[in-house]
Amino acid sequence: MIKKILLPAVVCWSAMSVAGQPSTGKFEPVDFAQVRIDDSFWSPILDRLRTVTLRACIEYTETKTGRIRNFEKAAMRKGQHEGKYYDDSDVYKALEAIGYVLHMGRDSALERTADEWIDKIAAAQLSDGYINTYYTLTGIDHRWTDMEKHEDFCAGHLIEAGIAYYKATGKRKLLEVGIRMADHMDRTFRLSNRHWVSGHEEIELALVKLYHLTHNVSYLKLSEWFLDQRGRGYGKGVIWDDWKKPGYCQDDVPVKAQRTIEGHAVRAMYLYSGAADVESATGDSSYWAALESVWEDVVGRNLYITGGIGAEESNEGFGLPYHLPNRDAYCETCASVGMVFWNQRMNSLSGDAKYADVLERSLYNAALDGISLSGDHFFYGNPLASSGDVTRKEWFGTACCPSNIARLLASLGGYIYGASSKAIWVNLFIQDSASIPMGADTLGITQHTRYPWDGAVELQVSPEKETNFELHIRIPGWLDRPVPGGLYAYANQGDQRPELYINGGKADYKLEQGYAVLARKWKKGDRVDLRFPMKVRMIEANPFVKADSGRSSLQYGPLVYCIESVDNSQPVQSMSVRPEGLFTVQYEPHFLGGVNVIRWATSANGKKSEALAIPYYSWNNRGPGQMEVWLLAD
Ligand SMILES: [Zn+2]
Repeated sequence: MIKKILLPAVVCWSAMSVAGQPSTGKFEPVDFAQVRIDDSFWSPILDRLRTVTLRACIEYTETKTGRIRNFEKAAMRKGQHEGKYYDDSDVYKALEAIGYVLHMGRDSALERTADEWIDKIAAAQLSDGYINTYYTLTGIDHRWTDMEKHEDFCAGHLIEAGIAYYKATGKRKLLEVGIRMADHMDRTFRLSNRHWVSGHEEIELALVKLYHLTHNVSYLKLSEWFLDQRGRGYGKGVIWDDWKKPGYCQDDVPVKAQRTIEGHAVRAMYLYSGAADVESATGDSSYWAALESVWEDVVGRNLYITGGIGAEESNEGFGLPYHLPNRDAYCETCASVGMVFWNQRMNSLSGDAKYADVLERSLYNAALDGISLSGDHFFYGNPLASSGDVTRKEWFGTACCPSNIARLLASLGGYIYGASSKAIWVNLFIQDSASIPMGADTLGITQHTRYPWDGAVELQVSPEKETNFELHIRIPGWLDRPVPGGLYAYANQGDQRPELYINGGKADYKLEQGYAVLARKWKKGDRVDLRFPMKVRMIEANPFVKADSGRSSLQYGPLVYCIESVDNSQPVQSMSVRPEGLFTVQYEPHFLGGVNVIRWATSANGKKSEALAIPYYSWNNRGPGQMEVWLLAD
């Protein structure tokens, strides 16, 4: 049921359901379009996205595979479909990434390519709004007969791409294609009440985005309708029975009744992102118990220390709780991208920083590991140990990951801040400048920092006129514990207290749901200095995690570290670390694009040597080799 149709641009932060559970959200994320990143850690990655990554995606999409040719043929209604039935989605995800990149700076060659693609996509749309090159070329009579065939999944990515490209360029053509497809689906399913369970969730979150842009409530209702189809037997016998794993498509139990994480990791992340979006947009808080309980199951029993999820290759998803093998970790890049999506929504719904903590962990480690430092090689799976037999690839038969990591990184500006009617929320520490609408005025905010190499952050706020509001600054959860829920713990605690200063004087603040809350009348140029104590932290896993038994891993700030054979004279499998060991941390500007390395004295097989660890995301950039995240604990 739709309780609330139109939202104001900024949601009232005090809006809560009767039961006190999140409903319409504590704040709204500040859109990527409001934020300009100029950061020593992230900007080189974003530059390479434009100059290398997207060029590689374009080459594979347009020339080396038939993804664009499929649209050309579909426009003529004849020809052989090339590739997989879900390949249209990769074109849309690349276009979405191009949209974000064009917003960062015009690039006429990229824009020309995108416009050409969009013309071809529009020409492939049927008169009733349906668009999917697989069914147009293999038999249109069979469309909407197999819930596993990703038609609605592709439609969701089309809609997301249309919105991103419209926001970046003002051009509506792709958006209109997406709207016609959404209208087609609404007529075909919701308005006809024809049961349908999406085999691969994605359409739900895309429809809520479309609703926010157009204010057409049909899209919100359709999203809610898709969620409500699940767990009612409508998908049984049609699709995923073959997988023999429970809950492969999260269709065994109605969404609101789900309490544990099951099945395919990417599908699950997109489902819960969509459910959180519907809750936020409708005020229907009855999704929250499921969202919170499933999240606790993910983080408390099924999360890698890198923020990666989905240990099993057999179902590309979740297996038994605490079964987290390192060498055989599946940890699909897309699943980590999905963790960022879902945790952002949980964070803005609840106002609880623990979700942003997990978002940061997945972003800086398991997701970022998915792309090479050169920007043109990708991991599909992201293991936490290697005997030298894995390496990033230029492309994949199923190529979901390259364009997915590209669109996440290109939209990074959208993860830094949140805003409500009387508060600004700072979630990530990235050097940037942002302008945030606050009522009738605009608030300027800037960050200066070398995070994650350094724990000092300088924030400056500049309201147009003196204004009362609260600044909520996330105190990184990694100061106290690696992740919420007890799956991991630090072996070497020390002074964990952050320091906060306002205009040079020590700040009084209250701590609320993991945020330091600074309430005052702010004026132009007011400055907040943050000091997060940085040191090498040793992590131990819960004894239930057999794969990590007798082992420790290293973390510095939000970054998980690993050892690679190329840097170490001892075999990495036999190198050890101890809590009382003395670590040295040094920034190496010309090594791996500029990283802090960790050194310590180690011994293996009776021989002493110096060990060197690098950030996990930066491994496998000097050829294949052995690698370990979890080291033997002396
Ligand atoms: Zn993927």
